[in-house]
Amino acid sequence: MANIEFPTEAWLEIPELADHKLILHGFGTRRIPPRIPNNKIRLMTVKQVHKSRTLILDAPQENLGKYSRFRFDSMITNQPGIALGIRTADCLPVLLFDPETKVVGALHAGWRGTGEGIAQKVVGRMGKFFGSRPVKLRAGIGPGIGHCCYEVGEDVVTTFRSKFSWWADVFSFRGSKRPKLDLARANTYQLLEAGLKEENIYLLDLCTYCRENLFFSFRRNKEEKQEQLSFIALK
Ligand SMILES: [Zn+2]
Repeated sequence: MANIEFPTEAWLEIPELADHKLILHGFGTRRIPPRIPNNKIRLMTVKQVHKSRTLILDAPQENLGKYSRFRFDSMITNQPGIALGIRTADCLPVLLFDPETKVVGALHAGWRGTGEGIAQKVVGRMGKFFGSRPVKLRAGIGPGIGHCCYEVGEDVVTTFRSKFSWWADVFSFRGSKRPKLDLARANTYQLLEAGLKEENIYLLDLCTYCRENLFFSFRRNKEEKQEQLSFIALK
C-alpha cells in the first residue's frame, strides 16, 4: 500500500459499500472539511467516551445537534437522511449496513471499546432493535493506527486475554519492547463471532500514524487534537 497516492480532496470509500445505492458513506482525511458531501443528509455525532453504548434512532429526528452532548460510542438507525458520524485520530471507525432491513450503524473502536466488545454488541443490537441478521450485514473498517505502530501496555494484553479466545492473534511481541495491537484484526474477529461472513467484512487497511499526509494521528501529533470524520447514511 505504501506507494499508493490518493486524490487530495476525496472521501475514501470501500468499493463494495459504494456499490450499494441505498447508502452513502465515506472515510474522511485531514485534507477535507468534515462536512457531508450531500445537502439532503444531515450529520450527527455523539460524545465519544471509549465505552460501548449504542444510540438507537428509530424515528424521524428534528434536532440532531442535541446528541453531540450524549455519551455514546456507536449509533444505529433505520431513518434515511441521517449521517452517523464517528470522529477518530487513531481509533478505528467501523461502519455497518444491512441491505435486507435497511439499517446502518457506525461505531468508534479504540482498545477500550474493542476490549468491551463494541463491534459484537452493535451487531447484536441491530438484530434486537431492527431484526438484522448478521449473515446479511456488511462492515467497513476504516483508517486507524495499524499493527505496525500501535504499541500498548501489558494491561491491554491482560484485558484481551481474559475476554477473547483469539487474543494471541491480535498482538505482536516482535520488534519493540511493548506489545503491538492489531485493532482492525480484533474488530474483524468480533464481527465474525457476531455472525458476519468473512467476505462481507472490508478493510481499508490504512495506518493513521504512518500516513501523515492523509490522516491526523493522536499518537503522532498529540498537540494537534484534530480528528477525521467517517460516516454512513441511508439516502
Ligand atoms: Zn503504521
